[in-house]
Amino acid sequence: MSLVIKNARVVLGDRVTEPVSVLIRDSVISDLDYKGECESTLDAEGGYLMAGFIDLHVHGGGGADFMDATTEAFETAIASHLKHGTTLLYPTAMTASEEDISAFIDAYLEFREKSHYARMTGGLHLEGPYFSGANSQSSGAQKKGSMRLPDREETERHLERAKGNIVRWDAAVELEGIREFAERMKRAGVLMAIAHSDATADEAERGFEWGFSHVTHFYNAVSSHRKREQTVYGGIVEATYLDDSVTVELIGDGCHIPRHELLLALKIKGEDGVSVITDATRIAGTDMKEGKLGGLKNGSDVIVEDGVAKLPDRTSFAGSIATMDRCLRTLCTLFGLPITTASRLLSLSPAKRMGISDKKGSIEIGKDADLVIVDGDLQIKNVIVGGELFV
Ligand SMILES: [Zn+2]
Repeated sequence: MSLVIKNARVVLGDRVTEPVSVLIRDSVISDLDYKGECESTLDAEGGYLMAGFIDLHVHGGGGADFMDATTEAFETAIASHLKHGTTLLYPTAMTASEEDISAFIDAYLEFREKSHYARMTGGLHLEGPYFSGANSQSSGAQKKGSMRLPDREETERHLERAKGNIVRWDAAVELEGIREFAERMKRAGVLMAIAHSDATADEAERGFEWGFSHVTHFYNAVSSHRKREQTVYGGIVEATYLDDSVTVELIGDGCHIPRHELLLALKIKGEDGVSVITDATRIAGTDMKEGKLGGLKNGSDVIVEDGVAKLPDRTSFAGSIATMDRCLRTLCTLFGLPITTASRLLSLSPAKRMGISDKKGSIEIGKDADLVIVDGDLQIKNVIVGGELFV
């Protein structure tokens, strides 16, 4: 099986090529300046050919949330993000009861067995439930009532149930019992991220020593400089900037993070240290004006205003409604970054973070043909996964 994409301006790590033909053979990229003939041809019409987007943090889309816990919900959400250029994602669970998280895990295992979309997922991401409900700043839109201290037995049951499919678990580092949780995650080879946490910089540094190595939606629901009574404290933001081994992810919808915060993260962490995520809810990829964050039964109500989801009382953003192509436009059009940098934040950096950059995340010979073609306005034209044209 081969396919030639002609008239494509290829977005490489450090430059964009003149229009060329790219050959895909047996689902991998096999020539970046192909001169021969081929039966199947796709005309990029001078558009940009980019590596497919990799979303490390996404709850749903197209009207479905992964916490709906059915194969159909997984397929709906993935198909919706696929239309917007995401070729690999990590289905993300909300803070919820053990029962609801178990249902999410079971649904994923069933989905993996039978769905055509299974190869577009890289494993499960649990966002919670071991979070701090200390204040609304750190809880964000996560359900306060479901937040709890690390529970050794519950953790064990989830790991066992998921049979190695949990690849990332987010928690608040300042909680009692978190060191033991971290040691268990290390043994299981699970990436640990600090999230929804009110930790001081000292507590964050201890967490990094215990193996936390990533920060979830950096700047959102993580602590920074503040004053408690008569004493000042640094927070997670400062500790993260001081530790070169720690990576961050930022919500790229243009609402959660202003330009200067993204540029600062990029300046300090470098392009490989910053991933851009959607943190999208079920509302992404729809024109819904209200919906649920989390499962339909136990989720929280949210409203949509100004291109972002909010709690109905407007005290907090409630996940984004972004898709990765919107993040691309935010980075390039609103924030003024070159498309090569945007591509690294949307594809290569997340691939490196998850240890799959030998196969994914950039356009190189031998890598999987997970590709996106966008036009001059950065709107999606085509999406290809493993050499197969989906959009
Ligand atoms: Zn999230």
